[in-house]
Amino acid sequence: MKSSRSITTQFLTAIMISATWLSLSSCCSTPHCDTCSSVSHGVVPASVESATAAQAATVVPSNSIEETKVKNGDEALVRLMEGNKRFVAFNSKHPNANANRLAEVAKSQAPFATIFSCVDSRVPPELVFDRGLGDLFVTRTAGQVPDRAVLGSIEYGAEHLHIPLLMVLGHKYCGAVKATIETVESHGHAHGNIAALVEGITPAVEKARAAGGLMLDNVVKANVALTVERMKHEPALAEMIKKGEVKVVGAVYNLDTGEVEITVP
Ligand SMILES: [Zn+2]
Repeated sequence: MKSSRSITTQFLTAIMISATWLSLSSCCSTPHCDTCSSVSHGVVPASVESATAAQAATVVPSNSIEETKVKNGDEALVRLMEGNKRFVAFNSKHPNANANRLAEVAKSQAPFATIFSCVDSRVPPELVFDRGLGDLFVTRTAGQVPDRAVLGSIEYGAEHLHIPLLMVLGHKYCGAVKATIETVESHGHAHGNIAALVEGITPAVEKARAAGGLMLDNVVKANVALTVERMKHEPALAEMIKKGEVKVVGAVYNLDTGEVEITVP
């Protein structure tokens, strides 16, 4: 039987690997870079802080792309996937990430898509879809396991912010899914609140097993598909989906290529 300690260690290892990746791939360490155009990142030496503040106070050259409000979930999905194409091609435009946008969304927000994804640091929605401030309404848990707070957040976005698209986003090499497969296979158990994640992902393991393939990729896809189904049957969301106010899709992010593949259209 697999011990709770080893399951917990697997999660910690996944987090450490993710942290290493993040440190290697951060956008920049200087207060101004060609990639980001205007926004400072990380620790800025005191000597340049005032210069950066002055720059932010002036009108920053827009790096945004020409856009209008999306009319429905289909248009929102097109916009997301266009951003992913730019990201994959290393041609990100970093829209809505300047001082003007910061001031604009301080007053109100009108995000065009809700993303429910894994907490994995290698899958940051705003980067993967090349979006900026106020664009995405994001909720994340390990293995994108929904609980009432997650569902409440998603419902809030749909009902009060009128967000027309909900994307459930899983990803390749998901540590939470991998740990769940190993736990189920070894008849082990997870420690503490991590047990809630294993419990939430286990139906996907059973679904993939029944379909004849208990490979990690299959369970990741099954987990996304089951979560999409769950969303469609949540009463508040189901009503909005029925009226055509909300579109729900499932997708998987490929850590090797940066591509997002729609697996549940
Ligand atoms: Zn994950």
